[in-house]
Amino acid sequence: MAIRKKLTILGSGSAGLTAAIYAARSNLEPLVIQGLQAGGQLTITTDVENFPGFPNGIQGPELMEEMHKQAERFGTQFIYDNAESVDLSKRPFTIRTSGEEIITDTLLICTGASAKLLGLESETKLMGHGVSACATCDGFFFRDKVVFVVGGGDTALEEAGFLTRFASSVTLVHRRDSFRASAIMVDRAKRNEKISYMLDSVIEQIDDVEKGFVTAVKVRNLKTNEVKELPCDGVFVAIGHQPNTDLFKGQIDLSPSGYIITNGVKTNIKGVFAAGDVQDEAYRQAITAAGSGCMAALEAQWLLEAEEAAGESEKKKVLEPLATAAKNHAG
Ligand code: NAP
Repeated sequence: MAIRKKLTILGSGSAGLTAAIYAARSNLEPLVIQGLQAGGQLTITTDVENFPGFPNGIQGPELMEEMHKQAERFGTQFIYDNAESVDLSKRPFTIRTSGEEIITDTLLICTGASAKLLGLESETKLMGHGVSACATCDGFFFRDKVVFVVGGGDTALEEAGFLTRFASSVTLVHRRDSFRASAIMVDRAKRNEKISYMLDSVIEQIDDVEKGFVTAVKVRNLKTNEVKELPCDGVFVAIGHQPNTDLFKGQIDLSPSGYIITNGVKTNIKGVFAAGDVQDEAYRQAITAAGSGCMAALEAQWLLEAEEAAGESEKKKVLEPLATAAKNHAG
């Protein structure tokens, strides 16, 4: 039998869990479909030092576990599965996982975005141990260190510039000899003496998986095929993000780059709200995701309350004349 809900949240990163805390505390008994990478992107980082309230920092997975417990404490129900399909064509909306069908009056999409990765085995193994996909989050740990940044878009150039505040040297590795980034970002980076460039080049291996931290990269020049092994302490992969919106394609308004288009947290579909990185191409921080998760829960709550109040007054409009007629008849 289908599970019937007033409010369902897809995703359990900081947007989804913050939404769950707010919705649960409004007695909406939310259901969170966690996804199989429960906890979202923070579960693949180590120290989080920029989330307010933790002066000594907190490990990403621990922060998500605490948020989960907080949501659970107020009565959130969790399903540890991916949503396999959603039907947003009519309210209530229908969501299917491998084992359940959920019918819900409101839906909060908090499915996040995934950093695109190079696809190297060493990259996955050293993620959080010298390899990072977020300079804002991890740059601070590379004071006086040698780092490499991969990518040629605005993010890569911005992150390379940001990293020069900490690192002793930053080398940008880009697979072509011209940048996708805007001219102003390229000019700014070129004026920064701490940044050097390896163009027409790719990182094809990150060492040292055995040691469990980054010691060097092997960089291949695609024009000459020459491979250089260069010692370093960190690798920042900045080749873009992929919003997790495949499920909603053709059903909801998406930007050309695939993010859900929102006005605040409202989507073009009444009753569907989106929060966190799935609708945020600019900030992509745990704290901004949490903030928008709160907004989405409040918007859903207000919509449900307004509809309930309208329903009551409709009922009254129908029932009151009937009650008066019955009374007159009896009298
Ligand atoms: P992006 O513009 O898509 O650039 C991705 C870069 O990574 C490209 O240079 C691409 O190379 C390279 N790349 C992709 N896959 C690769 C792979 N497998 N191996 C090696 N290199 C790879 O992504 P973004 O830089 O994250 O920017 C996303 C959006 O946010 C853009 O619209 C950008 O303008 C915006 N943004 C703006 C600002 C700002 O204005 N301050 C800051 C950050 C981001 P190719 O060029 O060869 O394809």
